[in-house]
Amino acid sequence: MKKLTLAFSSLCLITTTLNAQKNLIGFTSSEKQLKTEQIFDAQLSAKRVGENIKLLSSVPHHVGSVGGKMVASEIAKVFTDAGWDTKIETYQLMFPTPITRTLEMTGATNYKAKLKETPLKEDATSNQADQLPTYNCWSADGDATANLVYVNYGLPEDYETLAKYGIDVKGKIVIAKYGRSWRGIKPKVAQEHGAIGCLIYSDPIDDGYSAGDAYPVGPFKNDQTVQRGSIMDMVIYPGDPTTPNGASVDGAERVDHNAAANLLKIPVLPISYGDAAPLLKDMEGPVAPKNWTGALPFTYHIGPSKSLVHLKLAFDWKIRPGLNVIATIKGSEFPDQWIIRGNHHDGWVNGAADPISGMASELEEAIAIGALLKQGWKPKRTLIYCAWDAEEPGLMGSTEWVEHHAAELQANAVAYINSDGNGRGFLGAQGSHAFMPLITEISKSVTDPETGVSVFERAKAAKAAGASGAMAKKEAYDATQYPLGAMGSGSDYSSFIQHLGVPSLNIGFGGEDEGGEYHSIYDSYDMYKRFKDPTFIYGVTLAQTTGRAVLRLSEADVLPFDFSHLHKTVKGYISELIKNVDQMRETTRIENDLVKNKVYVYAADPTDQLKTQEGTVEVPYIDFSPLLNALNHFEKAVTHLELAKKTTDTKKQTEMNIKLYTAEQQLLTDAGLPRRPWYKHSLYAPGFYTGYGVKTVPGVREAIEQKNWTEATEQIGSVAKAIDKLSLYLETL
Ligand SMILES: [Zn+2]
Repeated sequence: MKKLTLAFSSLCLITTTLNAQKNLIGFTSSEKQLKTEQIFDAQLSAKRVGENIKLLSSVPHHVGSVGGKMVASEIAKVFTDAGWDTKIETYQLMFPTPITRTLEMTGATNYKAKLKETPLKEDATSNQADQLPTYNCWSADGDATANLVYVNYGLPEDYETLAKYGIDVKGKIVIAKYGRSWRGIKPKVAQEHGAIGCLIYSDPIDDGYSAGDAYPVGPFKNDQTVQRGSIMDMVIYPGDPTTPNGASVDGAERVDHNAAANLLKIPVLPISYGDAAPLLKDMEGPVAPKNWTGALPFTYHIGPSKSLVHLKLAFDWKIRPGLNVIATIKGSEFPDQWIIRGNHHDGWVNGAADPISGMASELEEAIAIGALLKQGWKPKRTLIYCAWDAEEPGLMGSTEWVEHHAAELQANAVAYINSDGNGRGFLGAQGSHAFMPLITEISKSVTDPETGVSVFERAKAAKAAGASGAMAKKEAYDATQYPLGAMGSGSDYSSFIQHLGVPSLNIGFGGEDEGGEYHSIYDSYDMYKRFKDPTFIYGVTLAQTTGRAVLRLSEADVLPFDFSHLHKTVKGYISELIKNVDQMRETTRIENDLVKNKVYVYAADPTDQLKTQEGTVEVPYIDFSPLLNALNHFEKAVTHLELAKKTTDTKKQTEMNIKLYTAEQQLLTDAGLPRRPWYKHSLYAPGFYTGYGVKTVPGVREAIEQKNWTEATEQIGSVAKAIDKLSLYLETL
């Protein structure tokens, strides 16, 4: 009897613990929420995801096009039919399209580039009339004739190699491979080195026949596929380049595009490997280093070319309407607290994967939420679902909207949840690190449709299997939290988090959907159905994941921010920076010794006549103590907050929630980042020389990378101040 009682009571204990564990983060009781999510899930339809991808990618739909208007109104119709209060907010956006595109080579080689992708009978939309030609948006107008130089991926380190060979690109046109950086970095670095034109081509080694079968047999680039894309220097500021200080509303004050700080001065054109091959084959000069060689069937030379290249480009520089679809459901308890969800709707051409696959998931969520409404459910907080226009040319639709509504957003926006393209594979998520436990919890509750395990397990397995070395594999496998990435740029979250400090997430699936269709006419429904997500089931998986994020943020009693994970992450960044500087110091010392002792001279082939390497300035010791002290303070503030969060007093919870969602704004600095004040977040920014790629603690990290020690010390002070500001803010709770 006694024994039995004991067994019974310990069973009770287990049940209670389980229940306590089961409660979702931020919920006093999660039963109702789980029921809501069950109903939500039951509404989602892979079939409808496929139908919407087909409909919304049926015509080219770039900014200002007939198709773009159709897509915006179809999206608005879905929201309206689902019961959302829907409007279209229009901005007047500069969007240049080409008038003239000429690329030819004359001399030893005579070749006129086709600059045209081939329509295919296997791809039903590949022959449509309204397609934008192949071009890089925001190239300058220009007419350049010069010899060509091959610059590998066109990154700063490639120019260091060129310098060793004694090759200068001043007054030349350069040709760079796509890949290894955001495309806009290549012409930027070329221009900095004095080049007068830039070609960017897709080498088959990266996403052509060397990677897999070419389209239409397989998903990779055929010899005429071209990656379009923006080369706006978004790392200075994104959005309409002619309205740097405000929204592109009717009558907005504009700067001349020729004077815009984020536009380049040289003509830039993307080409296929079919068009690049004759130009590259014409090169003389040294044989390219082994790691510069691509997969074309001849020896790669650095150049210059024997023949002259003529590149002539002219654009229309027109203002066109950007149509943002904004759909709202007012919150029943906290209408002034907004959960914002967005995906862009404009594509370079048909854009089935980018962006429509993500858009179709967002529409599924909207339809499912509509069904909940019809059953009498109401969100506690206001839901705002957005379909952005003009993302492709430079995040214009979202950036102008954010600039337009900045004050309201800083007062009311709880979070912004973004998606873009989607496909088969693994969960990829980046965002504010206070959301780490939230995204972990969600990822453990969503099932991967291919394997039946959670999307958390699958992402973890991929990371562990792909890690190099047994220790790294074990670390990835033992992880209890989803490894949320930091945000760089390349989609519409940028202005929310990096300009306004609105806590953000970016979510998508992929990794088993490789191909070379990105920004080409082949990013089509036919391609998507064959190679990206044939059953459209990952469209449902994305909607489940992003939908849970929206619904949990909307319904939580205490908003699910956990700053202990932000603390841990930032601590990791800082120790990494300290380690980097120590390593740089050691490396510089050793390298300088080798240079002094002529090691590189004796190791080189004298007939190559490489330039002798020079020593570099030694790395000083710099003082990280302001950051370490700020981290200490932050840790104490987090402990204080965790205690405060235990309150069950609803009035206190309400006050606390406002502080919780505005906390990330404390990390903004008034001055912004050096030379790019639009970027105000002290922890996350796209890299000045990586573009999409993130730089964490960017002010400090980039100063160190550029060996600007005075600036590094200044930035350490500025970031420490921002972290202290956040700590003081949290301590008032
Ligand atoms: Zn996109």
